[in-house]
Amino acid sequence: MHTYGTGRVNKEGHLEIGGVDVVSLAEHYGTPLYIYDVALIRQRARGFKDTFEKLGVTAQVAYASKAFSAIGMIQLAEQEGLSLDVVSGGELYTAIKAGFPAERIHFHGNNKSREELAMALEQRIGCIVVDNFYELELLQSLCDEQGEEINILLRVTPGIEAHTHDYILTGQEDSKFGFDLNNGQAEEALQKAMGMKGVKLLGVHCHIGSQIFETTGFTLAADKIIQKLFEWKGRFQFESEVLNLGGGFGIRYTEEDEPLAPSEYVEEIIKEVQVKTKEFGLAMPEIWIEPGRSLVGDAGTTLYRTGSEKYVPEVRKYLAIDGGMNDNIRPALYDAKYEAVLANRVNDPVEETVSIAGKCCESGDMLIWDLPLPKASHGDLLAVFCTGAYGYSMANNYNRIPRPPVVFVENGQAELVVRRESYDDLVKLDLPLNVTVRQ
Ligand SMILES: *Cc1c(COP(=O)(O)O)cnc(C)c1O
Repeated sequence: MHTYGTGRVNKEGHLEIGGVDVVSLAEHYGTPLYIYDVALIRQRARGFKDTFEKLGVTAQVAYASKAFSAIGMIQLAEQEGLSLDVVSGGELYTAIKAGFPAERIHFHGNNKSREELAMALEQRIGCIVVDNFYELELLQSLCDEQGEEINILLRVTPGIEAHTHDYILTGQEDSKFGFDLNNGQAEEALQKAMGMKGVKLLGVHCHIGSQIFETTGFTLAADKIIQKLFEWKGRFQFESEVLNLGGGFGIRYTEEDEPLAPSEYVEEIIKEVQVKTKEFGLAMPEIWIEPGRSLVGDAGTTLYRTGSEKYVPEVRKYLAIDGGMNDNIRPALYDAKYEAVLANRVNDPVEETVSIAGKCCESGDMLIWDLPLPKASHGDLLAVFCTGAYGYSMANNYNRIPRPPVVFVENGQAELVVRRESYDDLVKLDLPLNVTVRQ
């Protein structure tokens, strides 16, 4: 078994995370259950932050909260001195409810509404990452109306797409996000933003992709942007205080994935920005990054109880669990791969290959194909690793299945941070048919 963070097998042969036996967690909180290894989240956060500090570079490490947004998680990010990315009014509201310092919140998104932008101004958040011309217009009218001031970054698309193991350089990137760096859009946005009252343009932002295992994509993007900044200094006397290079640092879902340590990504990025800014005679900007998955992804484990089986002779055995695409839609959505063990019998020898089926009325609700396991029967516990990012945050109520709770474990202690949804929660938005309009 590959272990993550504090994960280990105890003398009963049970999986233990954060010093807590997961069999006891299942008994106490029920299944399915999301378990987060808090020490691993802290370790990752420090891995990013300490590298900037060690190299004396002013930085912000913003947790991309779309990966897993809940009040407890945001408070943990605050404890670790991270900044925070939000992409909607709902994520911003969660951050505010958690008491997160507004000046360290950054607001992203390609279609922020007038109401969402007004909320951001009212809360005096640290920065809005402006995506398009419509947003610039909305912001100007809101700043005029509310008499507020706001910091912004311009999101640019440098024409580099990172595909996990390779990079596609395109002249003009076909993306719904940001101002194109190659066709003049970015210059137009820059001039508009520089002329706006109440708006302070801090710099530029780009985000090249997700689950990236090398540094080349980041350094290529940095090169292209710094080249542009040199041009912009000459043409517009604009100097960027901030260079935000986004998130997307990869994690190990299965043995095929070989991610770098946070420090390795950060060191390479810093080195490139230092070399290039020096080459072009530019001041070293603050560097901001935005890890989501790499902070919380492999810190999360989902625990399920096994139930029914179906044997298709000479084809396969299906083993069903008490969750599925409700709590983890990634296999159905993008064919994501996971590894898992029988958490109550980790040391038992592997005896068969089974395919793990979810409980939704949907043939595509398969969590893992062809998983080697000890002979499992109903009532065993299946632990699926690396479900901490885009698991709970993408959870849904298809088939009116309540969403599982989230528990944090650390130093032998467990703490519930999201309670299990109840059937009452499921119907609380429903309104009965209005009898007065009946014929
Ligand atoms: C999604 C996203 C991130 C985080 O991506 P991860 O792959 O989870 O690290 C960071 N920045 C922006 C702008 C994003 O859209």
